[in-house]
Amino acid sequence: MAWDCIIVGGGPAGLSAALTLGRARRRILVIDCGTPRNHPSLAMHGYLTRDGIPPADFLRIAREELAPYDSIEWRDDEAVGAERSAGGFRVLAGGEWLESRTLLLATGVVDDVPVLDGIQRFYGRTVHHCPYCDGWEHRDSPIAVYGCTEAAARYALAMKVWSEDVVLCTDGYPGMAPELGAELAAGGVAVYPQKIVRLEGEGDRLRRIVFEDDSTLARTGLFFCTGQRQRSGLAAALGCHFTETGAVATGDAEATDVPGLFVAGDASRDAQLVIVAAAEGAVAAVAINTLLGRRVREAEAPF
Ligand SMILES: Cc1cc2nc3c(=O)[nH]c(=O)nc-3n(C[C@H](O)[C@H](O)[C@H](O)COP(=O)(O)OP(=O)(O)OC[C@H]3O[C@@H](n4cnc5c(N)ncnc54)[C@H](O)[C@@H]3O)c2cc1C
Repeated sequence: MAWDCIIVGGGPAGLSAALTLGRARRRILVIDCGTPRNHPSLAMHGYLTRDGIPPADFLRIAREELAPYDSIEWRDDEAVGAERSAGGFRVLAGGEWLESRTLLLATGVVDDVPVLDGIQRFYGRTVHHCPYCDGWEHRDSPIAVYGCTEAAARYALAMKVWSEDVVLCTDGYPGMAPELGAELAAGGVAVYPQKIVRLEGEGDRLRRIVFEDDSTLARTGLFFCTGQRQRSGLAAALGCHFTETGAVATGDAEATDVPGLFVAGDASRDAQLVIVAAAEGAVAAVAINTLLGRRVREAEAPF
């Protein structure tokens, strides 16, 4: 058996797990295809000691810290298949099946960014999805929340902690349920149901939303609430169960109900923050190390 653990995904969750397992002298392979979720962002917030660091710098420092450990190997590749095997798992990457006794998926999610003319130049700068990541930078400023679901309405109400001036843009969706509309009105959130034709601004600074009826609304920040998907189909292929929000269902220490398979970071349930992903990676690593030790002691290699 080549590896004690293959980690698919070299973001905060996977790197943190690799560090803990590598330091425990486990033979680790990290496979990463270089598409971290927060790559459009200029600055990563809320990670104690690293508040405001560019996301790419965070990953570079993390990889530099892994480099001295000869127990950790790295492959720039996409894992395109995975299956259970007699000894644990087989992962397909770069045309080669790689074997491991345990498997950690830290593959993250992909956001459903609204399809709006102009959004790409603002995304990660003045258009965001997470108030904990970027709300502070928009405090006391005119904010639009984008979405047409009850979750979007609740999001808009919650944004009032960051600014008094919050509106909800439903982009052509005719209206909220009357009781939700009343709640928004009571909370001081105006609803703009018109279809949006584009976002305008200077450079990466959002300045206004232009509606189909030619009216405009001055806004310096837009937060969208439109959903997300798993970045990889590997968890589904391995038979994992999912929560109703699409996260991989995990139990204690990020274990799935597939023996020997763990899922950490955004792909599993819980708050989607870098510091949480890193913590989940470490928690999963301790559990994986314990499991590997137990298997050796019990001399029962296959799961
Ligand atoms: C625009 C934006 C800004 C954000 N800002 C903040 C912030 O300020 N503060 C904060 O705490 N959080 C922020 N977040 C959230 C943060 O990015 C995530 O919580 C965090 O990246 C989760 O880490 P992860 O390791 O689970 O997943 P990711 O960081 O997404 O890493 C997953 C990795 O897995 C790899 N991968 C996926 N599938 C495969 C495969 N099949 N084979 C090989 N590799 C694969 C990808 O290449 C990627 O490198 C932001 C998110 C976005 C979108």
